[in-house]
Amino acid sequence: MSVLSDSSTLHRLGRALLELVYPGYCLHCGARSPKRTFPLCACCLASLRRVPRGEPLRRLHRLPEAMGCFQDAHSLWYASPSGPFRPLHHALKYANRPVYALHLGRLLGQTFQNALSSIELIIPVPLHRRRYLERGYNQSAWLARGIGEVLGRPVKPELLMRVRPTQSQTYLDREARRANVAHAFVAPYPERVAGRHVLLVDDLLTTGATAAWAAQALHQVRVGSLTLVTLGLAV
Ligand SMILES: [Zn+2]
Repeated sequence: MSVLSDSSTLHRLGRALLELVYPGYCLHCGARSPKRTFPLCACCLASLRRVPRGEPLRRLHRLPEAMGCFQDAHSLWYASPSGPFRPLHHALKYANRPVYALHLGRLLGQTFQNALSSIELIIPVPLHRRRYLERGYNQSAWLARGIGEVLGRPVKPELLMRVRPTQSQTYLDREARRANVAHAFVAPYPERVAGRHVLLVDDLLTTGATAAWAAQALHQVRVGSLTLVTLGLAV
């Protein structure tokens, strides 16, 4: 391990420890943050870079299996590896504070409220049961819950299942990611999905492989149309 990555690991560990001991400090810059329900200070929050309209759909259309799957797609911020998105996303997944995801879900709902007015029901991208038991919660389900509160639409995690345990996508290249999630999802209640306009919610859009295979499972049971919302778009 290089000195640089070693010090960055130490830095991350330090931040994680700070978060455990003193929630209320910004995970990126360490400043005191008045909001205990949110891990970034106002300054770092304002520095997150917004994703332009249309960009997530363009990303999805680079992937053959995503072609035609989504009517529209929205992502809030670029997931830059050096900015505040990374500690925010890490806290969302590993800090055991689903309240962060709920708060961010409300923000997603408010930001994209007009674009999502025709949504009928909301489905988070599920974790496999094994990963769910390890982590204790699905961050995408809490994002979905926050969006559902704002839109006044039902959130139905049970309508999509991850039936194949998949490796973490973090260290896989593009082709390995595609193979990893192929046929990983099943929609077990076709009659509750058929003909509806569904909002699929995930924390991060990277290659789009996960969203595409989740979408294919919903199209197999004749979903009416699909829109995707993610918190981050990988750079
Ligand atoms: Zn900060």
